[in-house]
Amino acid sequence: MDKKLRNIYTAFPEGKHKVLTLSYDDGKIPDKRLVALFNEYGLKGTFNLNGGLEKAPFKEFYQEHIPLSEIKEVYEGHEIACHTFTHPTIARCPKEQIAQQVLEDRKVLEKILGKTVRGMAYPNGSFDDKVVEVFKSCGIVHARTVNQTLSFELPSDFMKWNPTCRHADPSLEDLCKDFTNFHKTQYLQMFYVWGHSYEFDRDNNWHIIEKFAKDMGGHEDIWYATNIDIVDYLDASDRIQVSVDGTFAYNPSAIPVWIEVDKKPVKLLPGKYTEI
Ligand SMILES: [Zn+2]
Repeated sequence: MDKKLRNIYTAFPEGKHKVLTLSYDDGKIPDKRLVALFNEYGLKGTFNLNGGLEKAPFKEFYQEHIPLSEIKEVYEGHEIACHTFTHPTIARCPKEQIAQQVLEDRKVLEKILGKTVRGMAYPNGSFDDKVVEVFKSCGIVHARTVNQTLSFELPSDFMKWNPTCRHADPSLEDLCKDFTNFHKTQYLQMFYVWGHSYEFDRDNNWHIIEKFAKDMGGHEDIWYATNIDIVDYLDASDRIQVSVDGTFAYNPSAIPVWIEVDKKPVKLLPGKYTEI
């Protein structure tokens, strides 16, 4: 009998152990410039939009929303998620309103996209356990808070998904260096940056995100993913079945999943058994 126990780990695509993801709220006009920048450097983001605010009056410069008729094209290749229908401070709302705020937003966005919309960023960062429960029963599977961790830990609960930091945080540059130089592979690592694109206009600091994109794009050991890519991938990863003797595995999902077997990446094709 083979007494050697194989070392099998969950891994990100291509056997990577680091993921970078971004999240931007409110769907204002400067998102166009931000998406173009992300596309230039291969970064992926989740954009949290309010389906009921297209015609909302604005007071500040560049506060217009991108017309709903344009969002499918503008955010192509990224995730569009909910940000509620009209951006209330949701934890103050009765549960019927909470449900409507997410379902109405989903309805508008899904009709335009022809895809289910399952992500969320809490408007004004507001949430409590009641909000989480109602969102979950409305089909939301991930929701971002505004509580930054300044770390690269994956969240224990995707419905209370704390980002690493805002783009304007003074630690951003150090975090970039730490993440780039982090080569230990014991744990999966996530770098998650969030903000609003209009802040770059308002604060005249596009250079922050331009430097970030340049420094953080194009790394072979980083997986660039939207929020829902991460949730769906780890969900598929949780569902793989590995034989007790560690010689084969079955991937019952519709997407490929990678594992690391004795330090080597192995791709598990969807719906197939693979010798490992
Ligand atoms: Zn917002």
